[in-house]
Amino acid sequence: MSGRATVVGCIGGGQLGRMLALAGAPLGIRMRFLDPAADACAGHVGELLVGPYDDPALLDRLAAGADAVTYEFENVPPEAARRVGALPDVRALERGQDRLVEKELFRALGIPTARFGSLEDVGVPALVKSRRLGYDGKGQRLVEAVGSIGEDELAEELVPFDRELSVIAVRSRDGETAFYPVTENEHRGGILAVSRAPAPDAPQREAEEIATRLLDELGYVGVVTVELFEVEGRLLANEFAPRVHNSGHWTIDGAVTSQFESHLRAILGLPLGETRPLGSATMVNLVGSLPPLERLLAVPGAHVHLYGKEPRPGRKLGHVTLVDADEQAVAEVVALAERAWVV
Ligand code: AMP
Repeated sequence: MSGRATVVGCIGGGQLGRMLALAGAPLGIRMRFLDPAADACAGHVGELLVGPYDDPALLDRLAAGADAVTYEFENVPPEAARRVGALPDVRALERGQDRLVEKELFRALGIPTARFGSLEDVGVPALVKSRRLGYDGKGQRLVEAVGSIGEDELAEELVPFDRELSVIAVRSRDGETAFYPVTENEHRGGILAVSRAPAPDAPQREAEEIATRLLDELGYVGVVTVELFEVEGRLLANEFAPRVHNSGHWTIDGAVTSQFESHLRAILGLPLGETRPLGSATMVNLVGSLPPLERLLAVPGAHVHLYGKEPRPGRKLGHVTLVDADEQAVAEVVALAERAWVV
């Protein structure tokens, strides 16, 4: 990798890709994206190829001369990932794209989950989720009476969790691992609203054990995120994402090495960085419309990240992180974000 720029290709050109490119720039890494949208926001900070994710000619252009190829969302067609030799490799994609396969994998690895299966297995009330293409609580409904569900659906016990947590882990090409502190996540209408890290009194060791089993099983390279429910001190795995994650955005301003840089280091075979937190971080999502920028910037200690996307209900447009800030500053950002929140 000497003598010329390091190039990383990425299937998908949304905000996660954009933040990968921003993390890569100081390391001399250039990014190239493939996205069907001509205005994909990663295109503002890297080269953008516009077209379908499964277009063989575009995939070949994405991978041409690249030192590594990755993706920033989990519904990449497996054959596309295979064609470009993407990391994390296609095993992680295939196991994570179907909620039933994903839950069965957790079960096979001895990782506790909510009960799942048919409505008869689970009982009511239950959450019925579509097996594929669900995100941010989309494709799920609460069912109160036993009945039948579709082939493409999965019933899950409704977990009376005390809080939602996530753990972000990274594994290098030679199997070295590192973990960020467990993050506490608050959702509003199924969309992540606020993350706090390190989560107070978090079961860090148990969360790392869960992530490790998954990483080892999948021969994983890159960043993975496992979403967890905490119920009376026990952890249940909800799902994993084979990528950087919204609940890890605080690491840009709040950890020695961000999740984005960690992912790039891992897939490029570079040494992993330190994942140590720099303080107590709070990350607030900006969804649907943006508060006035000057109001956000006036809050002491607020790190503002805007993604350059057109406002639209339910769309993640940016986030704000505060590290070791006073409660009043955090409350101010939360209030500004809530007022602008549109779904
Ligand atoms: P998911 O689409 O699986 O990420 O779920 C979106 C959100 O729905 C989660 O963050 C939880 O707030 C909630 N949820 C998902 N599964 C369950 C469950 N089995 N019991 C209770 N709440 C759930």
